Amino acid sequence: MPRERLYLFDTTLRDGAQTNGVDFTLNDKLAIARMLDELGIDYIEAGYPGANPTDTQLFAEERGLRATFTAFGMTRRPGRSTSNDPGLAALLEAKSDAICFVAKSWDYHVRVALETSPEENLASIRDSVRAAVRKDREVLLDCEHFFDGYKADARFALACAKAAYDEGARWVVLCDTNGGALPHEVERIVGEVVTVIPGSHVGIHAHNDTEQAVANSLAAVRAGARQIQGTLNGLGERCGNANLASIIPTLKLKGEFAERFEIGVSDAQLKTLAHASRTLDEMLNRAPNRHAPYVGESAFATKAGIHASAIMKEPATYEHVPPETVGNRRKLLVSDQAGKSNVLAELERIGLKVDREDPRIGRLLEVVKEREAIGYAYEAADASFELLARRVLGKVPSYFDVEKFDVTVEQRDNALGQRVTVSLAVVKVKVDGEHLISAAEGNGPVNALDLALRKDLGKYQSYISGLELTDYRVRILNGGTEAVTRVLIESQDETGERWTTVGVSPNIIDASFQALMDSIVYKLVRSGA
Ligand SMILES: [Zn+2]
Repeated sequence: MPRERLYLFDTTLRDGAQTNGVDFTLNDKLAIARMLDELGIDYIEAGYPGANPTDTQLFAEERGLRATFTAFGMTRRPGRSTSNDPGLAALLEAKSDAICFVAKSWDYHVRVALETSPEENLASIRDSVRAAVRKDREVLLDCEHFFDGYKADARFALACAKAAYDEGARWVVLCDTNGGALPHEVERIVGEVVTVIPGSHVGIHAHNDTEQAVANSLAAVRAGARQIQGTLNGLGERCGNANLASIIPTLKLKGEFAERFEIGVSDAQLKTLAHASRTLDEMLNRAPNRHAPYVGESAFATKAGIHASAIMKEPATYEHVPPETVGNRRKLLVSDQAGKSNVLAELERIGLKVDREDPRIGRLLEVVKEREAIGYAYEAADASFELLARRVLGKVPSYFDVEKFDVTVEQRDNALGQRVTVSLAVVKVKVDGEHLISAAEGNGPVNALDLALRKDLGKYQSYISGLELTDYRVRILNGGTEAVTRVLIESQDETGERWTTVGVSPNIIDASFQALMDSIVYKLVRSGA
């Protein structure tokens, strides 16, 4: 039986740009659009031409994308003609393949927010869709607050959707704008809408305010909608939009959907999903959500020893889908609950060949348990675990020695009479009998130490030039004067590989130093220095 086509519409660059703290530049937008295009997304809604200089310029560029590049904007303003509305004119002039209009579909909003009549709202929808169709654009209408509107006055909400469809809109998109609808309501209402407008012309745009944007999107598909709008990593204002990084693998890997529907994302493209998700976070300078379904670092991480031994025998026993299908990987956590099987499995993953009966395995497990008892956390710090394992198995070269370091923090007035706090670090390193001294100022003591440590490692410098710290987390493990500090540092290199290292000490600088050292040594080991 031929499968029905479902269309994916990404609005990371438009609705996702509403996220608190997110501010895309023109280059960011172009890079993300290319990435979404390579992932196999059908529609990329990129912005609001005419509303700000970045979006206006974006829609003036040649982009060479396969996806339908979509401009977003409002229907004509009440009381104006289409030819006398500068916002609409900018939208019609923009170089886009499609135009997505947003219009009210809740009578209450029409009266209170637009201060106009229901008839004028319908006329505005008809006129705007007609004007865009005449300009040869594919047209979509986002029906704002559709579900609330439908509950308040179903006839009016449907009339708004129908007006756009009758004028030739390719898609009528039902929006849960405040994110308050629940899956069973969405399924019922979409089911009623598709008796009036064919489901092959109906889309769903869900927000995540009850954490059910993904469920609502899937409910809409079950009821007949054939376009899903969402964002990568669920970016979006408040609690975000429907997360395409969860929806795409569900559609591809779960039988009910995979057997009935086809999407533009191939199996090969699905394997790049985890990478795309992490790349977006990198561009936004946010630490990726470790617990994100499918793509998060912990999505396929297992802790307890008994589960780990079963996973090694037969992964399907504990995994709902194979991690490789979405470009993620299985991870067996080494922790104080761990048995020998976790350690063996982790050694195998790292590529360290050891015999099952090797007595050093028992020794490694003991060291891990001793160190975890004093605060180390190897389950989060895979790179520190690898170094520890290599050391116990006798396989880490001694690249360099830090003979001494000195960190000072000074608060004083600068030349402008402002109070400033300055951190300075001096590090003395011995590389191959050669003594090197580096000093650096940083915006804090750890930053200064990091910069000084990585400034000059003699003949190893070229191996660490692409090394960068991407996240720094501090945790105080027990209160009072006896407190111990655990520092976790996440690093990244020029290839995009990420790793985490750990340090523990009563002194935060010392704990940070251990984690920094592990990060550098790990990079040297990995680079074959
Ligand atoms: Zn929205």
